[in-house]
Order: sequence, then structure tokens, then C-alpha cells
Amino acid sequence: MSAEILNGTRLAQRIRSEIRRELKKLTFTPGLAVVQVGDDPASTVYIRHKQRDCEKVHFHSEVHRLPPNITQNALIEKVEALNQQKDIHGILVQMPLPDTLDEQTIIDAISPDKDADGLTPLNLGNLFINRECITPCTPTGIIRLIELSGEKLEGKHAVCVGRSHLVGKPIGIMLLNRNATVTYCHSRTKNLAEISRQADILVAAVGHAEFITGDMVKRDAIVIDVGINSIDDRLIGDVKFDEVKEIAGYITPVPGGVGPLTRAMLLQNTMTLASRQIKN
Ligand code: NDP
Repeated sequence: MSAEILNGTRLAQRIRSEIRRELKKLTFTPGLAVVQVGDDPASTVYIRHKQRDCEKVHFHSEVHRLPPNITQNALIEKVEALNQQKDIHGILVQMPLPDTLDEQTIIDAISPDKDADGLTPLNLGNLFINRECITPCTPTGIIRLIELSGEKLEGKHAVCVGRSHLVGKPIGIMLLNRNATVTYCHSRTKNLAEISRQADILVAAVGHAEFITGDMVKRDAIVIDVGINSIDDRLIGDVKFDEVKEIAGYITPVPGGVGPLTRAMLLQNTMTLASRQIKN
């Protein structure tokens, strides 16, 4: 039997409706600032989607486009100015940045109180000690998708293929915080297929199209495909969907799986940050 599809588009719509309902009870408008350095076409598309999402839930949003040759200090100054701007409650610096800039130094400049992406050391540290509040958008969205399956996380063996700060590492910690047993795989892992075949939950965040094939998946596993690979004008995940869907119990599609949830979680984080700032 074919796997059940975990539909991220539909779940994201539901989350946006919840946010709109919640917003009606509030007396302020959450504001999100997105900073783009250079004009990477993929980043431009992602930012446009984020702006549209903000419009859908009636958030204020601003995009600050900066030249690719901006200096590290000038970019930090921009972020610091946004840290002070009263109508902005969440800040996101769109990655990747040009090679001349150090991404972590720029993330460090974002106030943890306005860290819409949940990637500042303070917010990641809180995640690490199981005090989750503002958590990274993609891993948070993945948890919501897994919950959609109705399966319990406790005691499950989760295998994360990928260990980036953005996705792989934090999703592993979030699964651990929910009492899953977690194994990380990465580019130096030996016998990866042997490990992935043991996964009740398999998260693929590798960045290689169709890396996970049917023979790497346990029957009835929950398979989460984070990958976005643009091939011949098509978006392809890190999972060989047609093969794996015949073996897995649940699977996320690309597009329409993790991507929409990542964006919905950005709105949710902005809402949480705004509520906190208004209270203080
Ligand atoms: P990174 O490139 O930062 O990390 C990739 C990870 O995969 C690394 O840990 C790397 O290992 C590991 N890896 C690479 N090659 C292999 C291999 N042959 N075998 C095993 N492991 C390997 O990518 P991200 O985590 O940022 O993103 C992963 C994918 O998810 C990309 O396609 C990206 O576009 C997509 N993405 C999608 C999002 C969404 O909303 N849907 C959001 C963010 C990302 P090592 O550490 O050893 O180098």
C-alpha cells in the first residue's frame, strides 16, 4: 500500500487561519523584516513567498535589499537598527549570504528577542536544554508534520540525515526532547543505508536530489523530505518519492511538504515574539 501523504500546504493554511483568528483578539500588528543581500534568484522567490504569507495573515512586513558588496559592519549596523525599530518584532536575514560575509556573525547580531528564525545562540541554547520557545522554523514545521501522522514520537528511532545548524542538528534535538532515540548521519557516516533502514522516522536534509532510495527505508516509516533541489526547472526532494512512497507509512511531498510549514512557523514565531515584546 502506498504511504499516506503528509500535506504541508493544507496544514500551513490551517495554521495561518489560526493565526488570523488569534490576531483578531490582539491590539497590535506583528511586523517582520527580511534582509536580503544581493539578488540570488532562489532567495528572491523565497522572500516573495514570505511577504505574501505576511499579507495573508495581515502582518506588517518589510524587505530590506542590500548590495552584494556590503561590508560585514554595514550589515551588522542594519540588523542593529532593525533590533531597535518598534514596529518590527521579527527579523530574518535570508541565507545564503555572499562568501565575503560570515553568516554566524550576522546571526549573532540579531536580538534573540527578534530572532524570527530561532537561530541565535540563545534560542538554540534554550532548545538544547529543552526549554523550547523560539525554535528554528524548518524543524518546528517538521514536528508539526510528524504530529499530523498521529504517531507517538516517544521511543521511536529517528534518523536525521544531515547535521546543519539550520535543519539537521535542531530537528534531532527536538526529536530527542520528545523522547525519540536519535541517530545523526552526515557525509562521513559509514554504512548510511544500514542505519537509515532502522529508522521509524527518517528526516532527509542532505541537499542531494533523490538521495534516499527505497532500499534505504524501513517499511511503514515516517519519511520527511526537507530537500529542495532545482533540477531542469523542477523542484526535487532528497527522497526518491515514487520508490519510497511504496514502502513508507507516511511521506512528505516536494513541493507541498516541509516548505509551506517552514513559512507558517516563521509567522508563528513572529507572532510569539510580537506578543512577548508588547507585554514587556
Ligand atoms: P547543508 O548543506 O547545510 O547540510 C547538508 C547536510 O547533509 C550536511 O550535514 C552534510 O554532511 C550532509 N550530507 C551531504 N552530503 C552527504 C552524503 N553524501 N551523505 C550523507 N550526508 C551528506 O544543507 P541544509 O541543512 O541547509 O539543507 C538541506 C536541504 O534542505 C537542502 O536541499 C535545502 O535546500 C533544503 N532546505 C529546505 C527547507 C524547507 O523549508 N523545505 C529549509 C532549509 C533547507 P556534513 O555536515 O558532513 O557536510
